[in-house]
Amino acid sequence: MDMAKKNEERMSSATAIGKWKHTVLYLTLIISLIYSIESLISHKLHINHNKIRLKRSPNLPLRFRDDGTFKILQVADMHYGMGSITRCRDVLDAEFDYCSDLNTTRFLRGMIEAERPDLIAFTGDNIFGSSTTDAAESLLQAIGPAIEYGIPWAAILGNHDQESTLDRQELMTFLSLINPPVEDDDGDQGALRLIDGFGNYRLRVHGAPGSVLSNSTVFYLLFLDSGDRETVQGRRTYGWIKDSQLRWLQDTSKQGDNQSITGNPPALAFFHIPIPEVRDLWYTPFIGQFQEGVACSVVQSGLLQTFVSMGNVKAAFIGHDHVNDFCGNLKGLGKGRDTWTGVERIKTWKRLDDEDLSKIDEQVLWEASYTFFT
Ligand SMILES: [Zn+2]
Repeated sequence: MDMAKKNEERMSSATAIGKWKHTVLYLTLIISLIYSIESLISHKLHINHNKIRLKRSPNLPLRFRDDGTFKILQVADMHYGMGSITRCRDVLDAEFDYCSDLNTTRFLRGMIEAERPDLIAFTGDNIFGSSTTDAAESLLQAIGPAIEYGIPWAAILGNHDQESTLDRQELMTFLSLINPPVEDDDGDQGALRLIDGFGNYRLRVHGAPGSVLSNSTVFYLLFLDSGDRETVQGRRTYGWIKDSQLRWLQDTSKQGDNQSITGNPPALAFFHIPIPEVRDLWYTPFIGQFQEGVACSVVQSGLLQTFVSMGNVKAAFIGHDHVNDFCGNLKGLGKGRDTWTGVERIKTWKRLDDEDLSKIDEQVLWEASYTFFT
């Protein structure tokens, strides 16, 4: 009798514990659901316990300002790792002791404050695979200031971004999820899926609101994936822009643009790994620092020839070589078209990571018949 009673008691307390466990589980589920719904509704993403507001819809099309300018901040080779514990590379000897990823973030915030750009272009090696255990978290921290300030941004990959927890396709999928413009601007996603690389796309920049060009494409921004590492005839080398990408460039250029009054608007190109021709700039009157050999692929893919044959590419902006920041004129680029509806000139400059963010190397890249490569 006693035994039966004890068993009964045990069973009922086991049932009670089971019910209690279920209640806790349901509660946890409900709380996480509420949390997810709250995040979805408020478009907030939680990074390091800081709330970052994501865009509700793409800021498209990009547009000139009323004062007739459109400013792009290029951010190259942040090599972001895990914040304060990731040391800097390629800084002055005196800076190694205290320099970490946080300096990169502080510098980027300072640049945004100083320039208030209309677009930030992250040109690869945004994160450094071997310095992080979570690619998504590092990427969010790296590009965090752009999101915090609500400035439109676009990103491509370098040769190191895929070295931790996400491959190149996953990285671009992640970037396009948190940054709709990357995938939304140019209609033909089917064609883009068939070409080599991840992160080839084209953004349009329209004229200022209220101007005659407000509904027209004034210029394109071309973003290209220059790959990572490849082996060619037993030799390890850097990636290059493949034939399929070159064909896509030519096709899009031939198609024209019904949003443009000129048919095929001029373009600026962004990619990570230099093309071999960049080495030749050493023998020309470039502006800036040429402090290391140009680390390009052994494969000559013909990108410059493609740009020349397209006829509308005015300038290209690359990354990869950390201590080079020179800018020069590559023969043939942009020739044959010396007028540009709506644009007078392209100017560039750099800022140093010093107290005043000193502005240096101001340079006109294009005006009338000149096109440069930086
Ligand atoms: Zn690189």
